[in-house]
Amino acid sequence: MQKSNNGQAAKSAQGLSRDRTWQTIQDQPTWDVCVVGGGATGLGTALDAAARGYSVVLAEAEDFASGASSRSSKMLHGGVRYLQQLDFSLVKEALHERATVLANAPHVASVLPFVIPCESLAHAAFYSSGLKLYDLLAGRHNVGRSHYISSDEISLQASALKTRAHGIQYFDGLFDDARLAQSIASSARQRGAVLMNYCRAEMNGQADDGSDLVSLTRKDNSAQHTLRARCTIFATGAWSGERVAVARGSHIVLRDIGLSSGVLLPKTPDGRVLYMLPWLGHTLIGTTDISVSCPDYSDTAPQDDIDWLLRTSSQALKKPLDAAQITASFVGYRPLVRMPGAGKKSSQFSRAHLVERVADRTLRVVGGKWTTYRRMAQDALDAAIVHGILPKSKPCSTDQIALSPNPLLDNAWLTQGQWSDEQIQKIVKSAMQDESACSVDDILYRRLRTGFTDQALALNLQPKLEHWIKKFA
Ligand SMILES: Cc1cc2nc3c(=O)[nH]c(=O)nc-3n(C[C@H](O)[C@H](O)[C@H](O)COP(=O)(O)OP(=O)(O)OC[C@H]3O[C@@H](n4cnc5c(N)ncnc54)[C@H](O)[C@@H]3O)c2cc1C
Repeated sequence: MQKSNNGQAAKSAQGLSRDRTWQTIQDQPTWDVCVVGGGATGLGTALDAAARGYSVVLAEAEDFASGASSRSSKMLHGGVRYLQQLDFSLVKEALHERATVLANAPHVASVLPFVIPCESLAHAAFYSSGLKLYDLLAGRHNVGRSHYISSDEISLQASALKTRAHGIQYFDGLFDDARLAQSIASSARQRGAVLMNYCRAEMNGQADDGSDLVSLTRKDNSAQHTLRARCTIFATGAWSGERVAVARGSHIVLRDIGLSSGVLLPKTPDGRVLYMLPWLGHTLIGTTDISVSCPDYSDTAPQDDIDWLLRTSSQALKKPLDAAQITASFVGYRPLVRMPGAGKKSSQFSRAHLVERVADRTLRVVGGKWTTYRRMAQDALDAAIVHGILPKSKPCSTDQIALSPNPLLDNAWLTQGQWSDEQIQKIVKSAMQDESACSVDDILYRRLRTGFTDQALALNLQPKLEHWIKKFA
């Protein structure tokens, strides 16, 4: 379904308000900040810039959060496995940010207990000491203390797991990535940021006054406009050229297999870690970590990845999983910063982020994690001020901004599959008018999450959504 989403529907579905947004962009002679890319990082940057009082325009080539930002493993975490890389400051920063997202977006993020099943007491002691350090690094931002659990407690929380004598419990965050992205977008719009999806941006030199010239091209009607920006910030994720190493990560989604906690399998036969999470009434299993040359989005995960996920997770379960249990699968591409001296395996690359000046008034912010999106935005804007690209502003305040909920769409998954025609009408209206959805896929995948949890149901809903999209066009 997703492949066919070429933005054609954009014209019919969003005609007037897209045109209004386009007109607003054309009417302003010079913008303080132009953000390129509407994933977590770009949307976070737009919100931060608008909250500091700058005029902000953001252009996203496809739909908001259609890249990595709707295809993550849904964990707000410091990254237990990054402890092994001894990058404690990275883990500490992410644990701080975990607490900030949990506090500012409780409508789409919550604390989740995790279980690590252990074969021996020695294994349990090893993971316990690592997780004590994790707790310590979180400090006052900790969301629950790790502790030993017995085999009875393991089966209470994850009845599908094979019996293991020992286990460790720890706590991290679970969130709905695409819904959080919409929440950040709404909060940015409320502060005056102008956001346009299906609109590609390219650098086009400098104006006489030294400001950047950025050319925008609409995908729906090919209209073009060149704007002036005092500062341009590229947040284009895996599309950041030589600066990033791209790593493919696949997930499979199944009907709930009986997990009320997340499960971390710390050692798989090929050395990766594997997570199984309760997510939106389903079980999410991931992920692979495979270096590739460029992002190649398709409807579902590659068969090899699906086979590996099924095989590896089955080894930890009482009853092996069957391909027929899979209701959806998806693939995402991590934008990892290329650092000198990093190992060859993408799983060994640091998850640190990088802000760099790529031209006189142009910055790039890349790498990091969803969990740290807010910090990445803050660092990018602070850098623009330090370099004298932007005038001094109010300090960053996004750690104090409660992000805007949209209860209708945030909670729609609870009744997924039981929506009346009237509810579908309301969902489509809100997705289009409040959140700039342009097509059936925008709604099914990134305003609702049906496409990522149940692809058969998504296919079933398609004609009904199309019907209402035409009505609101
Ligand atoms: C499989 C997987 C699992 C992950 N799990 C987690 C996790 O559990 N927790 C966590 O914290 N992080 C996780 N991450 C990392 C996280 O998802 C990413 O770090 C984050 O989403 C990156 O956001 P971004 O905005 O930088 O990139 P993206 O979301 O990819 O956004 C970049 C955007 O730029 C747009 N763009 C590109 N070129 C142009 C242009 N010329 N004009 C306009 N727009 C353009 C693209 O269309 C895209 O939408 C995971 C990532 C993957 C792939």
